[in-house]
Amino acid sequence: MNYLHLSITELHNLLLKGEITPLQLTKLAIEAAKKDTNNSFEYICEKEAIGAVKNLDKNKKNNLLWGIPFVLKDNFSTKDIPTTASSNILNGYVPVFSCDTYLRLAEQGAILIGKTTMDELAMGGTGTTGHLGTVYNPWDPKHERLIGGSSSGSASACSGGIVPFAIGSDTGDSVRKPASYAGLVGLKPTWGRISRFGLFPFAQSLDHVSYFTRNITDAAILLSVLAGKDEKDCTSSSKPVDDYLGKMNGEVKGLRVAIIDEIINSIEDKDIVKEFTHNLELLKQQGVIINHVSIDIDLCRSIFPTYMIISCVEAASNNSTLDGIKYGPRYEGDDYESVVFEARTKGFSEMIKRRFVLGSYALFNENREEVFVRAQRCRRLIVDTFNNILKDNDLIYLPSAPTVAPYFNKTIDRLSDEYLIGENYAPFANLGGLPSLTLPLGFKDGLPFGGNLTGRAFDEVTVLKMAKKIEEITGLKDLVAKDYK
Ligand code: GLN
Repeated sequence: MNYLHLSITELHNLLLKGEITPLQLTKLAIEAAKKDTNNSFEYICEKEAIGAVKNLDKNKKNNLLWGIPFVLKDNFSTKDIPTTASSNILNGYVPVFSCDTYLRLAEQGAILIGKTTMDELAMGGTGTTGHLGTVYNPWDPKHERLIGGSSSGSASACSGGIVPFAIGSDTGDSVRKPASYAGLVGLKPTWGRISRFGLFPFAQSLDHVSYFTRNITDAAILLSVLAGKDEKDCTSSSKPVDDYLGKMNGEVKGLRVAIIDEIINSIEDKDIVKEFTHNLELLKQQGVIINHVSIDIDLCRSIFPTYMIISCVEAASNNSTLDGIKYGPRYEGDDYESVVFEARTKGFSEMIKRRFVLGSYALFNENREEVFVRAQRCRRLIVDTFNNILKDNDLIYLPSAPTVAPYFNKTIDRLSDEYLIGENYAPFANLGGLPSLTLPLGFKDGLPFGGNLTGRAFDEVTVLKMAKKIEEITGLKDLVAKDYK
């Protein structure tokens, strides 16, 4: 049996029975991480993981995550473990404190086996911009297709059969898009539902701790552990944490699901649309009410530019702390300014610099009203539109991406509706802070593609409930990329 291909619940039962020990499981995961050919890892926590297993509290054996190996994206602060966000500006940085996500998982007895490669500082969606280079999609052994990003290594480690769950972050779609390309479940809960203490900020009004699992039950298990108030993050919500596991098997009959026609129509791949439509028919047979709704196409086209302006403004401001003095390599210079200049010139890639330029441009006095304030107004219009849809509907359901994992050299028409809408509508859920989940829906050319459900703020239960039903209908769960089987 390949233990690393099992789900959290399956592993938990075997650990309880003593069929495998946490130490054996951890060693298997570390061996698999060392053999990884997809460039998933910034750092493999071999000695730290073995140490953590030895200190495991046997009284906590009944915790579902006890003894289960996992990985963290490299933008989560981990005490005494190098953390770079895949950026040269943070080379050699070893944090002095741990993020809340890691602390909660460790408290349950989960074992961190590695920090994963990402798009630099969580900006980007291709898995090609980190300082360690390209992350490959384990579904394509020829290494011609991307896994997506920015939580690239977390997606490839989970779908590559190294760990049953992997933590990432989602500011625009950075967990939900790679989940689609990797045949995984990717959950971004409501903004504030999970503490972001110790997650490097990219764009604080849009950032969410999010994660990959291979099935919906595992997604519910993780949310039960990660959700909840954290005094160290004043933006974390004090709303009571729901009983996700207990309620996710509830009835879907009578639930109202909105399908947004402009988004579906922007998708050119008719096989994906066909599978999605077939799935809707099967949901109707379960008593789900499907409502086709229409929204202004220009509003759809404005989601991505609005996201880009706001995220770049916040990124330029947040990342001003990366001055080459507090963290990372220190460069020579005659004064403060020249040290900072050297560090930021050498430490950031072109893509990051472009985003900082865009963000700073939008913040200049003479541009602020015309660019930044206008983007904020657009944000309000977008969020109101989607919240209105969610007044009459319990969920919004759409294909997660217009294609299966693309080739690295695919040419993109950045002004096309397929790109602006089909490829990049998902940030609406970040602009509105809404819970949103991707799950596998079908296959094309041997590669997976996903569907995406978005619900009302703090209504993760309904999202999980519908996702559980879709998983039951498709039978697509516990997928591990073929070449590892
Ligand atoms: N792909 C988006 C971007 O380029 C999303 C990034 C994210 O969610 N971290 O910014």
